[in-house]
Amino acid sequence: MRKFFIAGNWKMNKGLESAMSLSNKINEYAENESKIDIGVFPPYIYLQGMKNTFKNIIIGSQNIFFKQEGAYTGEISPKMLDSIDVEWTIIGHSERRNIFNESEEWVNKKVKFALNNHMKAIVCIGEKLEERKKGYTLEKISMQVKNLFYEISKEKAKNITLAYEPIWAIGTGETASPEDADEVHEKIREVVSNIYDSDFAEKLRIQYGGSVKPHNAEELLKKDNIDGALIGGASLEADSFLKICDIAKKLQ
Ligand code: PEP
Repeated sequence: MRKFFIAGNWKMNKGLESAMSLSNKINEYAENESKIDIGVFPPYIYLQGMKNTFKNIIIGSQNIFFKQEGAYTGEISPKMLDSIDVEWTIIGHSERRNIFNESEEWVNKKVKFALNNHMKAIVCIGEKLEERKKGYTLEKISMQVKNLFYEISKEKAKNITLAYEPIWAIGTGETASPEDADEVHEKIREVVSNIYDSDFAEKLRIQYGGSVKPHNAEELLKKDNIDGALIGGASLEADSFLKICDIAKKLQ
């Protein structure tokens, strides 16, 4: 059985004091936790402090660039993350794709670069509301899956966790129904199985993301193909984030 992976994406939120207070609570909870994986993706400036303090939590960046160094103002590289022992990153979040215009090609370049530099990545995919309304969801998702795995060996691809995040459900309070989400996750496994093989597809973890909260987490996580959650809003408070972790622990 795949191990649940519950990850919090803090986005551009929290000052130092509030970041430390939240991460201390998560750290305390995770200290002796081995049933599920717990991850936190804070703003860059908190990575080193959190990495030094927390041993049993996956700590990762919210983005990387596909170059190691140079004149790329505002960017961060795998080499820099490696220097503070951070081996995880999120790639292709819809906010990166839509606000910062990251293309499918860039997402694939970033995934390749991260994996070639010994990183592990949560890679996000998801459809827009218009695409869902037009019945284009499964096609869009299949296209994104094929693009992100383009020219990546199976061995390297083992370091990827996927996050299906319907864009219309992010930060809106709207969630995909557990059935709809599971259908998409099943499709993802089918596409991945055609790229690699069924054993790889069976082992691949696919998180759901999009307004996951304590009140809807159980129904989502009960679905066969949903292996965890990537959480925005509800990861900003210890109470809601840890309640979702509790639900995952109970279901594992
Ligand atoms: C996210 O940003 O990845 C996300 C799922 O946000 P929220 O939980 O707030 O919808």
